[in-house]
Amino acid sequence: PVAATAAKRLGSTIKPWSAAHPYANLYGPKNPVTATVVGNYRVTEADASSVTHHIVLDFGAMPFPVLEGQSIGIVAPGVDARGKPHHPRQYSVASPRNGERPGYNNVALTVKRVTVDHQGRPVTGVCSNYVCDLKKGDTVQVTGPFGASFLMPNHPRSNLLMICTGTGSAPMRAMTEYRRRLRASGKFDSGRLMLFFGARTEQELPYFGPLMKLPRDFIDVNLAFSRTPGKPKRYVQDLLRERAADVLELLKDENTCVYVCGLKSMEEGVVAALRDAAEQGGVAWDALAATLEREGRLHLETY
Ligand SMILES: Cc1cc2nc3c(=O)[nH]c(=O)nc-3n(C[C@H](O)[C@H](O)[C@H](O)COP(=O)(O)OP(=O)(O)OC[C@H]3O[C@@H](n4cnc5c(N)ncnc54)[C@H](O)[C@@H]3O)c2cc1C
Repeated sequence: PVAATAAKRLGSTIKPWSAAHPYANLYGPKNPVTATVVGNYRVTEADASSVTHHIVLDFGAMPFPVLEGQSIGIVAPGVDARGKPHHPRQYSVASPRNGERPGYNNVALTVKRVTVDHQGRPVTGVCSNYVCDLKKGDTVQVTGPFGASFLMPNHPRSNLLMICTGTGSAPMRAMTEYRRRLRASGKFDSGRLMLFFGARTEQELPYFGPLMKLPRDFIDVNLAFSRTPGKPKRYVQDLLRERAADVLELLKDENTCVYVCGLKSMEEGVVAALRDAAEQGGVAWDALAATLEREGRLHLETY
């Protein structure tokens, strides 16, 4: 027999016990649904070195139920180099289940224009540029929704530990906004929200302005910038280590769910920092991670 060599990826494949039941795969590449663009705004500053847009899509009377943490697919028009229709690209939903505009059948996305590839060579990403260039009134072909485990808990006093970089903030924005609306209703006793958010610079951090306006007793925001001129590089894992005692307190609470989203390259450093936070406090990370995983409380989505 051949021994398994590939390391198993960390993370739950099951949703938290109190998460709502998601719908998935209602529309595929052969039967996409048409959505209409109702908004497209740049959410990074004009002087930032990368450009990210906030796009709002409306589904009219077509059912497109989504939960925070799910993603949708977008099919760019035209064909690829082999003459085949473009495969759908996935984008995380950035709005709460009841709509970017509450009560409307719409969904928001956070899309970064891909202008360089992972090696830093110039490239024009097919779908990200198509989406960022969309105008109000344009129609788009959408697949999905996708995802059945990266979902938020719904029980009172449940905590969210959210760790993200760049557009990985999309699901965190969705979850935070849903909790903010629940809290504003006065009918929900929310637990603690703790956010670790990294970007190259403040100008490049999507939603920086609105994020900083959230009440401090609602969400504990920790920002890391890796390219601020004249300042040392700081990454989300550095902040996790600085706040290790508070992070561990949350990790030890069975009402806490952990979410990590962003570029693939962040995952290793974040997991190492969580391990350090646990072990400094005398908690064995492997056992804790196994419990979190089994209970649907540790979710990683990196791309
Ligand atoms: C579950 C999931 C959720 C996602 N959520 C989001 C989201 O919320 N917002 C978002 O902007 N993207 C998100 N993505 C990434 C998105 O699906 C596309 O991969 C991305 O927009 C690039 O597609 P493209 O067609 O523009 O580039 P392509 O034409 O497919 O690629 C062009 C070149 O750029 C490289 N490349 C691809 N993506 C990147 C990148 N992000 N950075 C640098 N180089 C890249 C490719 O390797 C290729 O060489 C998500 C991906 C997954 C799997």
